[in-house]
Order: sequence, then C-alpha cells, then structure tokens
Amino acid sequence: MKKRVLITGAAGFLGSHLCDRFLAEGFHVIGMDNLLTGNLENIEHLFPNPDFEFYHHDVSKFVHVPGELHYILHFASPASPIDYLKLPIQTLKVGAMGTHNLLGLAKAKKARILVASTSEVYGDPEVHPQPEEYWGHVNPIGPRGVYDEAKRYQEAITMAYHRVHGLETRIVRIFNTYGPRMRMDDGRVLPAFMSQALRGEDLTVFGDGSQTRSFCYVDDLIEGIFRLLMSDYPYPMNIGNPEEITIKEFAEEIIRLTGSRSKISYRPLPQDDPKQRRPDISKARKILGWEPKVSRSEGLRCTLEYFKAKLQPTQVS
Ligand code: NAD
Ligand code: UDP
Repeated sequence: MKKRVLITGAAGFLGSHLCDRFLAEGFHVIGMDNLLTGNLENIEHLFPNPDFEFYHHDVSKFVHVPGELHYILHFASPASPIDYLKLPIQTLKVGAMGTHNLLGLAKAKKARILVASTSEVYGDPEVHPQPEEYWGHVNPIGPRGVYDEAKRYQEAITMAYHRVHGLETRIVRIFNTYGPRMRMDDGRVLPAFMSQALRGEDLTVFGDGSQTRSFCYVDDLIEGIFRLLMSDYPYPMNIGNPEEITIKEFAEEIIRLTGSRSKISYRPLPQDDPKQRRPDISKARKILGWEPKVSRSEGLRCTLEYFKAKLQPTQVS
C-alpha cells in the first residue's frame, strides 16, 4: 500500500513541485487548491497519473478527505507581496483557519503535518543572518503584517497542537525561492526582472536597490522540505540559500544573463520592505545533512528557459 500525502496549494509554484517529488518517491498524492493564485497548468501533466487526485477546495473551509492520510503538507496561501496585499483577508484566513482545519485533519487521521512558514516571520530583521532562535521584528498592522502575522499564528497553533495533542508537526521557514512555474506576473523580484529583461523594458528596482535577499533554487528547497518531513525535528527550521546579493546587483546579473539592452529604473521602496535577509542554515546542515547544491547562475539559467518558453507566442499548426 502506498503512503498517502495531502498537499495543499498543489496548483501553485512550490505545491506543484512537491506533487512531482512525492509521486517520484512512490506516494499517492492528493492535491488540493482553490486556484486563488495558482494555475492548473502547473499540474495538468499529473492528471493521467492514477496516483494523483485533485480536489478544488478552499482550505479555510472545513476540509474533508476520505480514506487514510499519512502526511499533510500545508502550502496553500497567497505568497507574493502583490498577491497578499490584494488578498489580505484570504491570506489571514488561510494562515489561521486553513492551518487550524489541516491540524484538525492531521489529528483525526493520525497524520504527520508540515506547514510552510516563511523568512517573513523575522520581518525587517535586526539580527543578521537570521537563526531560528531570532523572534523577529514585524509590524503587525503594516501592509505586510497580514502575511507575516498569519504565518506567525500558523507556527503558534502548530506548536500548540504538537504540545497539547502530541501531533507530529514540522515547520519549514522558507527563504526566497525561485524556479520554473513561478507566475510571470506575481510581482516577485525574479519574475518581474526576467520578464522585463526579455521584453526589453526597464528593470524596476525598488528603493536604491541596496536591500539584500538570498535566493534558493526550487529543487534544493524541495529536497530540504522532504528531508525535514522525514526527520523527527518538530521545531521551525530555516531552508534557504545563504548566498546573499543586493537587489541592484541582482538586476544587473539578470540583464547580463538575458543579454538584454534593458536599463534599471528606480521606484519607491514599498513600506516595511526588509533591508536584509539571509538564512542561517546551521541547523539544516547539522540535523538534515542538507545544504543547497544549485548555484545561482545554474538556477537562473534553468528559470530563464522556462520564462522564455512562456513568452513565446503559442505555435499554431
Ligand atoms: P503560489 O501562490 O504559487 O501557491 C500557493 C497556492 O495556494 C496557489 O495555488 C493558491 O491557489 C493556493 N491557495 C491559496 N489560498 C488557498 C485556499 N484558501 N485554499 C486552497 N488553496 C489556496 O505560492 P508559492 O510560492 O508556491 O508558495 C507556497 C507556500 O510557500 C505558501 O504558503 C507561502 O507562504 C510559502 N512560502 C513561499 C516562498 C517562496 O519563495 N516561494 C517563501 C516563503 C514561504
Ligand atoms: N523588488 C524590486 N523590484 C520589483 C519587485 C521587487 O526591486 O519589481 C524588490 C523588493 O522591494 C524586495 C526584493 O526585490 O526588496 C524582493 O522582493 P520579492 O517581492 O521578490 O520578495 P520579498 O522578499 O520582499 O518577499
């Protein structure tokens, strides 16, 4: 009998890669998504697979899955700043009520659950790089607060289910991740810069571009998540690539990579935009034996191929 895993947010960027990975590992995968920010195109290649099922459902409402469940991965949530600024209440609900529903389901099914948290729980960090022990610096009522606080609540209720009910829980704090299947218009920096460069438009750097991020290729992230789920570590774990770069340098790197003649133009920095972000991954190295393997140049090349194909007009035969 195959182990059965429920993946929420299955039609999204990370959820769809998780579906691929768990199917490749021999699991029966149940994907769930309400298509709020996701796209069925990301998983349409899985529909012929008898080990894949898909439920179109909003996990902020009661979640029912018939039969046994061994694992749950809760990845449903708007994730890019423009998505969660447009959908603040849905973001709070899926972090709070959605997580509560899935914890309840995990308890009923005696399943192990892993929830997708984020480096945003550290807010605009005053400690650098960020270790898991750092409590963060978040403005709860600022525009980004809807996402940050939803995820902080998600971590709190997950630990409460672990402590009160003895539920097997895992919490991954994901740092900026990129790769194929990101939505071109999701407003995150990489799809924004790549599509601008490919169209020959100016790259829009917010602020003076001195803020930093550390970008992890999706295959590395998925490997880290798989290892964390299979470990016995119940506390939050950072998964990300510690190689840090300023946003201005990142824009220049993408202009070089694409061979574009685009220039950089500067726009106002959004409110509460973190000035620096870089994961301390000592725990993942020690406990999971994990560290990223894909260099930024290699990861960006693979992602560029995906975006180029997306931008090509559909061939009509
Ligand atoms: P995404 O927008 O591509 O995917 C999220 C998916 O969740 C979408 O398919 C969307 O339709 C679905 N969804 C949203 N609300 C739902 C609901 N109420 N019920 C059912 N489905 C719902 O985003 P992503 O980048 O794949 O992010 C996935 C998860 O990882 C999110 O929880 C996000 O907070 C977390 N995360 C991602 C990153 C990153 O760099 N990509 C970083 C930190 C955390
Ligand atoms: N950013 C930018 N231009 C864009 C989109 C984003 O300069 O067109 C900046 C943004 O202000 C932030 C960084 O790039 O400092 C990363 O933004 P993203 O939305 O990808 O993720 P965040 O880490 O802020 O959640």
